[in-house]
Amino acid sequence: MILAVPKETYPGERRVALVPSAVPPLIKAGFTVLVEQDAGTAASCLDTDFKDKGAEIVPSRSDLFARADVILQVRSPGANPEAGAADIAMLREGQIVIGLTEPFTDPAISKAVAETGAVLFSMELIPRITRAQSMDALSSMATLAGYQAVLLAAGNLPKMFPMMMTAAGTIAPAKVFIVGVGVAGLMAIAQARKLGAVVEAYDVRPAVKEQVQSLGAKFVEMELEADDAEDKGGYAKAMDEDFYRKQRELMTRVVAANDVVITTAAIPGRAAPILVTEEMVKGMAPGSVIVDLAAVGGGNCELTRPDEVVEAHGVKIFGPTDLPSQMCIDASRMYAKNISALLLNMAEDGRVDIDKDDEVVAGTMVTRDGKVVHPMILEKLE
Ligand code: NAD
Repeated sequence: MILAVPKETYPGERRVALVPSAVPPLIKAGFTVLVEQDAGTAASCLDTDFKDKGAEIVPSRSDLFARADVILQVRSPGANPEAGAADIAMLREGQIVIGLTEPFTDPAISKAVAETGAVLFSMELIPRITRAQSMDALSSMATLAGYQAVLLAAGNLPKMFPMMMTAAGTIAPAKVFIVGVGVAGLMAIAQARKLGAVVEAYDVRPAVKEQVQSLGAKFVEMELEADDAEDKGGYAKAMDEDFYRKQRELMTRVVAANDVVITTAAIPGRAAPILVTEEMVKGMAPGSVIVDLAAVGGGNCELTRPDEVVEAHGVKIFGPTDLPSQMCIDASRMYAKNISALLLNMAEDGRVDIDKDDEVVAGTMVTRDGKVVHPMILEKLE
């Protein structure tokens, strides 16, 4: 079968779905690999590097789509609604598309892909099971986002992160509060600690308390009934508005006491809960920084605007949605490993053999035989 890597068309996207070093294992598994001209240039993966590893460079995107059996993307149409529409028009029956699809943002896009007869796999839906860890692109990207969020905050805070004892006096360390301790939150705690900040963190899942403490941060205890906050996949469940109201009340004091707040609280398939209100922002000291990693899902801060910097009450609020793309070299390497692992899990003598009974395949497949087949997306379409 022919695998094809198109150039990403989402504005500002620098990642590429395969890197040159990922090509030989796929050729060894019996696939032919095509790469659109310049697809990897922004991530320092040159056409000549791809060619050296056995890929063919294809100048025309329409030729690439016409020849491909399997299309490997970072942002498939769901995660690239405007420019990605042109790709949907080029898909055909039985063609396989694998990429990040933001499946819950606009489920109508999955339906449009289904109508072409293409089989769509969403990298966001990889089950969080041990066997699928090497395929877990969400974790890879969250790791990079957590790291970058701390650098963004440190670069914009008009204070030092570490404590310093100098002849000119002692500089107190910056105080950082991390809300949501999943993959990104843990990475953010580790990075903020490495830079010398004093770190506190909170998550609705009480199980993370030990992880927070093992990284040298303080777990913020809140009198909230959160024993039932985790689903069987390890994700946070949506709580009711009463819970979030109480959480905001309890967090107000903590937010005001910190120089930096990094929010990462997400609920899969739903809008991010509002945890930091404008009133809470007002309570922060001028010069403070909020980095809202939940901006893709609307944001955890009431004032967040995705991909903008909002300045309100002397506080800078960042809602970046492109942090992994800013780290495009490592992000592409990690993503290429993840997408190759998913593909190789389904590969048989250079062909993709879709086994609907495989937990990873069933969990990840969004469309097949002209229909949306993923139950969570079907539910959203109702
Ligand atoms: P995520 O991006 O969905 O959410 C980020 C964090 O926000 C989560 O920890 C969540 O509990 C928290 N959160 C949600 N609502 C909140 C609220 N109101 N207040 C405070 N925090 C709130 O999460 P993620 O990073 O994808 O990780 C989710 C879980 O999956 C974690 O337990 C993680 O360790 C686990 N995981 C398992 C595997 C695996 O086993 N293969 C791989 C990756 C992650």
